Amino acid sequence: MKPVDCHCHLDFEQYKDDREKVVERARDNLEFVINAGSNLKHNGKALELQAKYEGFVYANLGLHPTYTEDFDQLEEIKKKIRDEDPIAIGEIGLDHHHVEDDAIRERQEEVFRGMLQLAEELEKPIVVHTRDAEKKSVEIIEEYDIENVMLHCFNGKPDLAKRAAKNGWKIGVTTQVLYSARVQNIVEKLSLESILLETDSPFLYRGERNEPANVKESVEKISEIKDLEETEVHERTTSSAKKFFGLEG
Ligand SMILES: [Zn+2]
Repeated sequence: MKPVDCHCHLDFEQYKDDREKVVERARDNLEFVINAGSNLKHNGKALELQAKYEGFVYANLGLHPTYTEDFDQLEEIKKKIRDEDPIAIGEIGLDHHHVEDDAIRERQEEVFRGMLQLAEELEKPIVVHTRDAEKKSVEIIEEYDIENVMLHCFNGKPDLAKRAAKNGWKIGVTTQVLYSARVQNIVEKLSLESILLETDSPFLYRGERNEPANVKESVEKISEIKDLEETEVHERTTSSAKKFFGLEG
């Protein structure tokens, strides 16, 4: 078993010149890659990648909280999710870092709740963005009956991560673990069972363009932090990811 990347954006234009090679490197190093959708257009691209790299790239369909101009796509995206039956709904959530206006934040919460309702109804896992709104996101999700929750790129307080873990949710640990003391501290405090590996490519690689294959560096780092063999780190996180996204067997 190889490691996996549970959250990336290979459909973004940063890969327009060499996407094929990036996927090839990912294939050499990883078991599978999950590509999150951000709006109607990007969901379509995520589905194209899923079809092109069948059994290696899987699409999540969502409506990203910073794509505020696209919030009126909500109903259309919900319909698309019903039609396409993706393995998970994402990327969805709250972002108080980029969105400061109260009225837009309110609309953002409505969109998020719309997606949570759908996830509850369809019994789908969710992949949630929580930037600078970690506590609020957790409180809102707790109102719904959703079993599989991944707090992607989690940068909140360790206590909140523990509360999420206690709910049975997963904390997405990105390649930030290579350089961020905050993320390293969260990894130290959580059990490996609560962690899913991700890159959030093309972001979060010391300012350079990230790519899924870099997950193997996170595995190295986490094995140091937790004093475990690298194989144990990726085998346990990969089997959690398979279970989370319903990709077993
Ligand atoms: Zn993302």
